[in-house]
Amino acid sequence: MPGSAPSLALIDEAESRLARCAPLLAALFPELAAAGGHIESRLMDAKPLHLALDAGEASGNWYLKRDDELPVAGSIKARGGFHEVLAIAESIALEHGLLHDASADRRVLATPQARTLFGQYAVTVGSTGNLGMSIGVMAAALGFDAVVHMSADAKEWKKDRLRQRGVRVVEHAGDYAEAVAAGRAQALAAPRNHFVDDERSELLFFGYAAAARGLAAQLTEAGRVVDADHPLFVYIPCGVGGAPGGISHGLKALFGPHVHCFFAEPVASPCVLVQLASGSDTPVSVYDLGLDNRTEADGLAVGQASELVTALMGPQLGGVFTVSDDELYLNLLALKDILGVEVEPSAAAGVSGPRWLLGSAAGRSYTQGIEMSQATHVIWTTGGSLVPSDALRGFQEHAGQFCLRRAAT
Ligand SMILES: *Cc1c(COP(=O)(O)O)cnc(C)c1O
Repeated sequence: MPGSAPSLALIDEAESRLARCAPLLAALFPELAAAGGHIESRLMDAKPLHLALDAGEASGNWYLKRDDELPVAGSIKARGGFHEVLAIAESIALEHGLLHDASADRRVLATPQARTLFGQYAVTVGSTGNLGMSIGVMAAALGFDAVVHMSADAKEWKKDRLRQRGVRVVEHAGDYAEAVAAGRAQALAAPRNHFVDDERSELLFFGYAAAARGLAAQLTEAGRVVDADHPLFVYIPCGVGGAPGGISHGLKALFGPHVHCFFAEPVASPCVLVQLASGSDTPVSVYDLGLDNRTEADGLAVGQASELVTALMGPQLGGVFTVSDDELYLNLLALKDILGVEVEPSAAAGVSGPRWLLGSAAGRSYTQGIEMSQATHVIWTTGGSLVPSDALRGFQEHAGQFCLRRAAT
């Protein structure tokens, strides 16, 4: 387990793994060739959104971090998921003499010999959505028996897309938690089957943490300094906590007290918030508080947080704010109408961050004593580019109807 101080060594290790595997990724996926196999998203100036949502306030500069556009996986899960599958592939290849040292060209992992070797292994994950897409597609591309356990009510287009990419989709009658439990049990019972554990995996966590240096470089390029007079505020949608936790861990390692990371959770599913607020190590779920964990933000509908993440986050995290489903849809529509950015509901949660920080009593008490006029606000948009356009239209129509009803009352 990593200690609670940000561990630069483990972050660097994940970064070097992703860097040395970039030529491999470029060879496996034509859509990554242009970027040389580097998994990175744009930092987009969001001034029009700032002006529209926060008119008149001199409250720094707003940006979107566009992980909704990450290639191949279409979501933030590309960061952690690709990293974990690549780490497994490297370790199997080393064990079988296909790779000899740390510097060897990783494109050897895409040769027919490597595919034959990986074909004897399975990579399993339980996921209703984006994690399954990331793990499944990468594992199948390397020749693993890629298995994604899903609840039967998972979206049909997701199952279809996985199957097209050579992934085995196993459907379960129960809910998401049952699908994960079944996947875990089957994988652990089988030899040579690696189970990707969203709640405990350090390989996922540090894959996310590796995002920090990329963002730092983009901020420099945009002319944004990060220091005591120019603090950085980051708002990331949170499910089990791995993605926002890993990214925050990485940013804290780089920027220390000058970065302030906030998680955005649905009102019905604030699993990290309830765990941290309990002040205890005993697992607490949102059901324990009488919440129903029902939200349109399917990527964030998680009842119990990752213990790996909550154990680490206490001292590192700025805070957690919650977002109602209605507000998610308003955010989704604002992104579309003002910036032309189309995302899934989960990915719009962070948009509420700057207004919450600057406008709520809790937010204002946090910023007491912090110089805010030159702050940089980064809203992480986390998924959407693989969502079929009719589903995106559906989200936007739903949001539009909600706005009309609200205007009428
Ligand atoms: C998974 C996911 C998140 C949150 O990541 P966790 O590791 O579950 O906290 C946020 N947004 C989208 C779109 C996701 O798929």
